[in-house]
Amino acid sequence: MIWLYILLVFLGLIALFLTIKSLQVMKGKRLADKEVASFSHEKIRSTGEVAKLSLMPLVDFKAVDSSFKTEPGVSYLIKADNTNILMDLGFNKKKEHPSPLLHNMEKVGFDPRDIDMIYVSHLHLDHLGGTSEQRSKEFSFSQGNVDIPPVDVYSPEPLTPSKYNPGHKVHVSREPFIIKNGIINMGVIPRYLFVMGYTAEQNIAINLKGKGLVIIVGCGHQRIEKIIERAKLIFDIPIYAIIGGLHFPIKGGRIMAGPINLQYIVGSDTVPWHGLTEDDLNSAIDAIKDADPQIVSLSAHDSSDWAIDQFKKAFGERYQDLRVGEEIIL
Ligand SMILES: [Zn+2]
Ligand SMILES: [Zn+2]
Repeated sequence: MIWLYILLVFLGLIALFLTIKSLQVMKGKRLADKEVASFSHEKIRSTGEVAKLSLMPLVDFKAVDSSFKTEPGVSYLIKADNTNILMDLGFNKKKEHPSPLLHNMEKVGFDPRDIDMIYVSHLHLDHLGGTSEQRSKEFSFSQGNVDIPPVDVYSPEPLTPSKYNPGHKVHVSREPFIIKNGIINMGVIPRYLFVMGYTAEQNIAINLKGKGLVIIVGCGHQRIEKIIERAKLIFDIPIYAIIGGLHFPIKGGRIMAGPINLQYIVGSDTVPWHGLTEDDLNSAIDAIKDADPQIVSLSAHDSSDWAIDQFKKAFGERYQDLRVGEEIIL
C-alpha cells in the first residue's frame, strides 16, 4: 500500500513539473516569436562581395574517410577571398587535447595561426567546444593551449575565451552588420526551446560575386523559413546556397540517452510528445525551394539520415554532401 502511495506522489510530481515546464515554454515561445515578428531593419545595400569562396567542414557527424574524427558538433573553415573564418568550435565531447577540431585541421593541412576571425553561431555545447564551455559561457579550441594569435570573435551573446587561449576580443551584437567586405552577420533570430530555453542564434551570409548569397547556418534553431525571411528583408540579393545545420533529428538522432533522442527533445519549441514532425521538415523544404538556391547542403550533426534523404530527394543534383575533409567550393 505504501508503495502505491509513493508511486502516486511520484507521478503527481512529474505531472506538476511537466505542466509548469509546458506553461513556461508556451510563454517563452510567444515572447520569442513576438521578437522575431517585430524585427525591422533597413536594406543593407552596399554589402561588398567576395570573388572566391569555399567551406571546409572541420567538425561534423560525417567525414569523407575514417582518418578524420567525427562528432555531433560543428566547426567550418570558411575561406572568403583572403579571410579565413572559423565558424564554431566543435563539441570535443571527450575533452581531448588535441581536440577533434585540431586533429582534423592538421589533417586538411590548415595552420590554426592562419585563422583571421571566429564566428560563433550560438552558445550551445556542440558549437563552443564542450559541455563545461556551455555552462561557463566560454569557447575553446581544445583542452590545452593552441598557438592561435588573438583574433576578433563575433558572438550573439557575451562569451569569454577559455583559460587555454585567452586574449581573443569578443564582439557581441544581435543586429545584422557587415563584418568585412562581402561577409555579413545576419543577426540574431531567437527561438525558445523546451530544454535549452531562450536561444539566440545568428548566421552568416557571404555575397559571392556573380552568384549571390551563401547562407551558412550552425544548428538552425532559428528555422530556415525565418532565416530566408530575414535574408529577403535585409538584402536585395538572390540566395545562391544554403549550407549547415537545420536541426531535423526526426526518426533518429546523433545524441541518444538509451532510447531517448536528446536532440529531438532539446531542439523543439513544443512539448517533447508534440516535437518536430515530418510537416516541419516539409515546410523547410518548401521554403528552400521557394528561395531557389543552386546548392543545398545539410549538416548531419543535428539531422537524421532520414532527413538527409528527404533533402537529397527534394534537391537532386543541387544537394551536396557535408562531410569533414571534403571542401565545398562555391
Ligand atoms: Zn548544433
Ligand atoms: Zn544548438
